[in-house]
Amino acid sequence: MIRLHTEADLTDGAFIEATEGQAHYLGGVMRRSIGDSVRLFNGRDGEWDGRIATLSRGKARFTAETQVRPQAGDEDLWLMFAVLKRDTTDLVVQKATELGVSVLIPVFTERTNAGRVNLDRLRAIAIEASEQCERLTIPEIRPARPLHDTLAEWPAGRALFVALERADAQKIAPASGPAGLLIGPEGGFGPRDHAALDRCHFVRPVSLGPRILRAETAAIAGLALLQTSGCG
Ligand code: SAM
Repeated sequence: MIRLHTEADLTDGAFIEATEGQAHYLGGVMRRSIGDSVRLFNGRDGEWDGRIATLSRGKARFTAETQVRPQAGDEDLWLMFAVLKRDTTDLVVQKATELGVSVLIPVFTERTNAGRVNLDRLRAIAIEASEQCERLTIPEIRPARPLHDTLAEWPAGRALFVALERADAQKIAPASGPAGLLIGPEGGFGPRDHAALDRCHFVRPVSLGPRILRAETAAIAGLALLQTSGCG
């Protein structure tokens, strides 16, 4: 079953314009034809069975037919992560989407050595991951900013679990309310990052075990542990 995300409203009989990429994927890659079925979701109206109504020369339209799943409430789990090399950042966004993260916040830390974040690219990766994993929403991806600024604007009442290797920190424990996880860069947090984190009352240092994990492994493991412990 091909699942596609759309920005359009989904209602009985609605005609929906496909993006150029979707039209190419359906006609050129998947060799689908007019009348073939697709599943559609937009993050607001649940999931719909639909059909390809028109398909030619890089353009396509769908019709929405029947709602097959109502919109479900999203999980409330945030991931803040130090920007990594491009492929690794892509992997973190893909896996965090699969693991149900609702908000992704890339940050620049003292030892971040990647300079730029392409939000459109990351959003495309999140859309593709949501389509594949049968999620009904696309996570929000915020523009990358310095860690310090993001901490200054952290919402009251949301705990921030900060993954610290080689620290005498507790293992991730169930959160009693909304939470986020912070993963550092390949070089680890620097002294100025630690000083900024130490000043934040909402920070909860956590360990992910005795081994030093790559940042992407730490993100995936930490999110999985937060979910099994009930906050995801
Ligand atoms: N360069 C650092 C060092 O050798 O000490 C390791 C940094 S690690 C590759 C990248 C990030 O993953 C860390 O900043 C931390 O957030 C997280 N991390 C890795 N292993 C961890 C562990 N065992 N417990 C908690 N966090 C961990």
